[in-house]
Formats: sequence, structure tokens, C-alpha cells
Amino acid sequence: MQVLVTGGAGYIGSHTVVELLNNNYEVIIVDNFCNSKREVLDKIQEITKKSFKFYEGNVCDKAFLNKIFDENNIEAVIHFAGYKAVGESVAKPLMYYQNNIDSTLALCEVMNAHNCKQIVFSSSATVYKESEIQPLQENFPLGTTNPYGTTKLINEWILKDLYQADNEWNIMLLRYFNPTGAHESGLIGEDPEGIPNNLMPYIMQVATGKLDHLNIFGNDYDTKDGTGVRDYIHVVDLAKGHLQALEGFKKYKGVNIYNLGTGTGYSVLDIVNAFMEVNQVDIPYKIVSRRPGDIGRNTGDPTKAYKELGFKAEKTIQDMCRDAYRYAVTHQKK
Ligand code: NAD
Ligand code: UDP
Repeated sequence: MQVLVTGGAGYIGSHTVVELLNNNYEVIIVDNFCNSKREVLDKIQEITKKSFKFYEGNVCDKAFLNKIFDENNIEAVIHFAGYKAVGESVAKPLMYYQNNIDSTLALCEVMNAHNCKQIVFSSSATVYKESEIQPLQENFPLGTTNPYGTTKLINEWILKDLYQADNEWNIMLLRYFNPTGAHESGLIGEDPEGIPNNLMPYIMQVATGKLDHLNIFGNDYDTKDGTGVRDYIHVVDLAKGHLQALEGFKKYKGVNIYNLGTGTGYSVLDIVNAFMEVNQVDIPYKIVSRRPGDIGRNTGDPTKAYKELGFKAEKTIQDMCRDAYRYAVTHQKK
């Protein structure tokens, strides 16, 4: 089966491509490297020893997409391509709406024209309204607080409307919680430019000496140790969820929505302590005030994904910390 992976050179995309190739899917990657590096493609090859097709270009470009669909026999698309930084989306909303929405519109139009009507879309836990009731379930109220989140929600609406208009479409909306970790080879992982916003990439830079300490944003939340709790999921578990979603097309028609997380919440201090223990490195930290817009707890109920797709995250918090650090160390040597 030929699968087109948009954004396949990115963090989650590259790990998903590895799993697809290991499971004998024929993979076609499209990426414009706006947030990734070309060398990732070599690393995917090195890990899997398998070949795949690659097209460099912008997913918003319909003529470019038409060429790809004309030259191949694509049966399904996994659509990762998009911008993902919340803070940047607040500063540059037009850029976010343009890229994240135009790419989906162009892609679906070209898919339609080629009678390819199966899409797995990267949505996010950020589409949920803040809720006292945790873990979040797929039918909980939706609402966003920043342009990035709104682009995800709009994409969900676009895809739902597409199905309403044409019931031949099969659509999987996967709401990821907090992806972290890296491939156990240490060859691919998360490599943000500049000072990271997310917890694990920040800890990695402290661990490798690029930053001197971690700021923990608040220890006065109503959580077990006062620090923020999130549903961290190892990126390889998350990647495998995409293969299960592709398999799910055989059984589940129409629009299907799934949380992809572990259902378990870990606090900032849980992560820091696990990281120090498994990697035997010190992570100096200071408690500072809460980050504006943050919430104390955000975890997702993965029961639906388990029951319908057979999805179950297997890797532990120790695996996430060990693999993230291995990638940071390997990567730094280059
Ligand atoms: P990433 O930035 O590492 O990967 C995205 C890839 O898409 C990059 O390689 C980038 O170069 C490419 N890209 C972006 N716009 C493009 C365009 N117009 N044409 C071609 N290529 C383009 O991000 P990621 O962490 O792998 O996330 C993948 C998807 O999952 C994104 O849609 C993101 O919003 C979503 N998501 C990510 C997280 C997370 O924490 N990483 C959480 C929830 C949802
Ligand atoms: N966090 C922190 N210091 C940092 C980055 C994050 O204390 O430098 C905390 C943050 O307040 C939250 C958790 O770590 O409680 C996860 O933050 P991240 O930005 O990775 O994910 P999100 O908040 O978007 O779910």
C-alpha cells in the first residue's frame, strides 16, 4: 500500500515513516524542510535499510501535489505538515492560518481529484476546552486559546464537512497529547531551533550544557507536587498509532477521532527526577512563576483508541528520558 506522508522529515513524521517502512508500506514523503533537515532522510534509510520516495516542495502547492499523485498510486495520506509553535502562532497568526489551513485544502482537493479519500490528520490535545474533568475524552467540549490551536480545530471542521459532503471519505483525527523521546537508535529525534518552549527539549539542553538550568513554571498547581501534569507519550508509540489508524480504515468508516496518549499524567518534577536518574546527569532547576496560559493538568483518555484501533502506549517515562538524552548526546557530537 502506498502512503503519502506530508511533513515526513519532521519529528513525528520521521518516526512514523520508520514504522511504516518496517511494516512494508510503500512510503512517499513530501516536505519543504521549513522545520526539519534533509539529513533526516538519510537517517531514516540508515535505520530501516529500506528505500522510499521523496518530493521536496510545499503542500500548499496544488500543481506540485498533482504531479505527485499523477506519478504514484497513493491510497492514503498521513498529513503532518504544518507549523506547530504556539507562541509563534500568537505573533504570526496569518502565517499559521495560511500554512496550516491552505495545506489541508490543497491536499484534500488534489486527493479528491485522484479519488484518494483516506486521510489521517495530526490534530492535538490543544483543541479541547480547559476542563476540570480529567482525563479528557473525545466527546468533551472543544475550544482553543491561540491561533495554532485554532488551525487544528478548523482543520478538524474542514475534514468533517468534507465527509458530510461526500461519504466516501474516511478520516482519522488523531489528537496527540505530549509527544516526547526519540528513536532508540539515537539517529532521529526532536531538534528545535533556538531556545525550546517545551519541557523535554529544554531539559535536553540543560543536560548537554547548552542552558544552565531549567525554569519550572509554578509549583502551586493543584497537583501531587504542585508542578504541571501532562500526558507524555513516547514518539515511537505515537508513530505506531498511525499504522493502527491506517489499519482502522478497513473497519471504521467516516470520521473517527482518537486521543493518542497514555492516560497517565506526570508532573514536571517526575520528568526531571526520572531524567536525572536514568541518565545520571544533574538537571539544576529554579521554581519560577506560572507560565501565562498554562493549566495545571492535561491528560487524555486513550480508551477509545485502545478499544477500536488496538492502540496502547508501551514505553515508560524512563524510556522517554533515556531516548531523548541519547539523541541529544549523539546529535551534539555531529
Ligand atoms: P515538525 O515541525 O517536526 O514536522 C512538521 C514537518 O512539516 C516539518 O518537517 C516541516 O518542514 C514540514 N512542513 C511544514 N509545513 C510544510 C508545508 N507547507 N509543505 C511541506 N512541508 C511542510 O512537527 P512535529 O512535532 O513532527 O508535528 C507534526 C504534526 O503534529 C504537526 O501538524 C503538529 O502540529 C502536530 N502535533 C504536534 C505535537 C507536538 O508536540 N510535536 C502535538 C500535537 C500535534
Ligand atoms: N514547563 C516548565 N519549564 C519549561 C517548559 C515547560 O516548567 O521550560 C512545564 C509547563 O509549565 C507544563 C509542562 O512543563 O506544565 C509541559 O510543558 P510543554 O510546553 O512541554 O507542554 P504543554 O504545556 O504545551 O502541554
